[in-house]
Amino acid sequence: MADVIVVGAGPTGLMLAGELALAGVDVHVVERRSSSELVGMRARGFHSRTIEILDQRGIADRFLAAGRTVAAASFARTPVDISDLPTRHPYTLALVQSDIERILGGWVAELGVPIHREREVAGFAQDAESVDLELTDAAPMRARYVVAADGGRSTIRKAAGIGFPGWEATRSTLIAEVEVTEETPQGARVDKTGIHGLTPMPGGRTVQVLVTEQRLGPATDPTLADLSSALVAVYGTDFGVHSPRTISRFSDATRQAAAYRAGRVLLAGDAAHVHSPTGGQGVGLGVEDAVNLGWKLAQVVQGVAPDRLLDTYQAERHPATARVLEYTMAMAVTQLADDRVSALAGVLSDLLTVDAARVRLAGLHLGLDVRYQAADGAHPLLGRRMPDLDLTSAGGPVRVYSLLHDAHPVLLDLGTPGGITPGAWGERVRFLQASYDGTWELPVIGAVDTAAAVLVRPDGHVAWVGDGTDAGLEEALTRWFGPAAAR
Ligand SMILES: Cc1cc2nc3c(=O)[nH]c(=O)nc-3n(C[C@H](O)[C@H](O)[C@H](O)COP(=O)(O)OP(=O)(O)OC[C@H]3O[C@@H](n4cnc5c(N)ncnc54)[C@H](O)[C@@H]3O)c2cc1C
Repeated sequence: MADVIVVGAGPTGLMLAGELALAGVDVHVVERRSSSELVGMRARGFHSRTIEILDQRGIADRFLAAGRTVAAASFARTPVDISDLPTRHPYTLALVQSDIERILGGWVAELGVPIHREREVAGFAQDAESVDLELTDAAPMRARYVVAADGGRSTIRKAAGIGFPGWEATRSTLIAEVEVTEETPQGARVDKTGIHGLTPMPGGRTVQVLVTEQRLGPATDPTLADLSSALVAVYGTDFGVHSPRTISRFSDATRQAAAYRAGRVLLAGDAAHVHSPTGGQGVGLGVEDAVNLGWKLAQVVQGVAPDRLLDTYQAERHPATARVLEYTMAMAVTQLADDRVSALAGVLSDLLTVDAARVRLAGLHLGLDVRYQAADGAHPLLGRRMPDLDLTSAGGPVRVYSLLHDAHPVLLDLGTPGGITPGAWGERVRFLQASYDGTWELPVIGAVDTAAAVLVRPDGHVAWVGDGTDAGLEEALTRWFGPAAAR
C-alpha cells in the first residue's frame, strides 16, 4: 500500500508529488494520458508567486530559461505595470503548459516518483485505514490517502459526492490549431460576444484560433463544424479551416468545491476550482494548493502531526482561492465590447492610474497578497509569504528561499544570538542565526516592522513572528509541526 496516490499528472499533481517526495513520503501518480502530450491548448504562463514557489524549491531557473518574462499585467483592457512589486520576480512568465508539465515532470522524476500512465481512475472506496482506487483497465490500487488532482471534471470529486457550487457559464470559447486556405487578419478582436483572434504558427498554413461562440456551447468536445460556424459569425468567413490538430472549448463557468476533503481523499487544483482562464490564474492556484497541502499531508502520513492539520488546508486555501475566482469573473466581464462594459472599463482604467489601486490589483493578480488566517492586530508578516531576504550568516550570504529547497520549516533568528532555539523540534525544523539590515517590504502593504525572528512553513508562509523573546514559539511549532513528543 502506498502512502499517497495523486490522481492526475497535470501541474497540480506533479507539484504535489514533488512536495511529498521531498518530505520522504511514498507517493505514486496515476495518469490516464499515455504521455505528457496535451490534448488542446492550455496555459500560456504564470505569475510572480508561482515563480517564487518554484524558486523556494530551487527549480525556478529551469522555467525561466524555457520561457519569456513580461513585466506587465492587464485589467479592464488597461496595462498595469508590475515591475516595481517587491519580489525577486516582478513579472509574468510566458511558458506553454506542455513545457510547464515537461519541466515539472523532470523534477518529479529526479525525486524518484513513479508515474503510472494509461491508468484511468473510475471511482474509489475508503474505510478508516485506506482508500481503494478503482481503475478502468487495471487492478485496483490502494493508498492511505488519495489526492484528486484530476482536473475540473474530476471523477473523484464526483464520486465523493462533493458539491461544486458556483456560477454557470455565460459564454464559451473555442480554441484550436487548424489549417486554413485563406489569409487571416492580424491581431485580436473584441466585440459584444467576446474575444477572437487568429495567430499564424511558424511554417505552413496552420493557425491558432480563439473564437467566442455566439451562443453558449455544450460541455462536450466541439467539432470542426462548430469552429467553422463560430468563425463565420464573427468574420463572415471560416478561412477554409480544415485538418484540425486540436479543437477544444472552455467557458467562464466559475465553481469551487464545497469541501476540499472527504475523509482520506483530498482535492487540489482544477479538481477543487474552475474559472475563466482570462488572467492566467489556474496553474498558480494549483501550485499553491500543492505546496499548502504537501507538507501537511506528509506530516500526517508520517504520524508527526495529528490528522486535524489537514483541515487547515481547506481553511486556508478555500478563502484564498475564492478571492481569485471573483477576480477572474471581474476580469472576464471587461472582455466584452459592449457600450456599458466599455464605460465600466473606462472607470476602472481611470482608477488604476491611482498608484495604490494599481499596486493592490497587481498584488492580487500576481498572487503576492495571500494571507492565511491571522488574528487581528498580529504582526503583518504572520500568515503572509516570507520575503526572499538576503541574509548574512556565519557561513556567508544566504537567500531565505534557498533555505526552503528541501521543503522543511525554517526558524530564523535575526536578533541577539542565543535568544531563540527550535528546542525539541530541532530535528524537524531547520534553524539559522543570521542578520538582515534592509527594510522589510511586503507587496501591497509596503514596509512593515522588523522581525527579530520568524518561523517559516515549508510553503513559505510565516507561522510565527518573534518580538525578541520566544513568546508563542512553542505553540506555533506544536500547531504546525506536531507535538514535541511525536519525534
Ligand atoms: C484555453 C485555456 C487557457 C489557459 N491559460 C492559462 C494560463 O495562461 N495560465 C494559467 O495559469 N492557467 C491557464 N489555464 C488553466 C490551466 O490550464 C489549469 O488551471 C491547469 O491545467 C490546472 O492544473 P491541474 O493539474 O489542476 O489540472 P489538469 O491540468 O486538468 O490536470 C488533470 C490531470 O488529470 C488527468 N486525469 C483526469 N481524470 C483522470 C482520471 N479519471 N484518471 C487518471 N487521470 C485523470 C488528466 O489527464 C490531467 O493530466 C488555461 C486553461 C485553458 C482551458
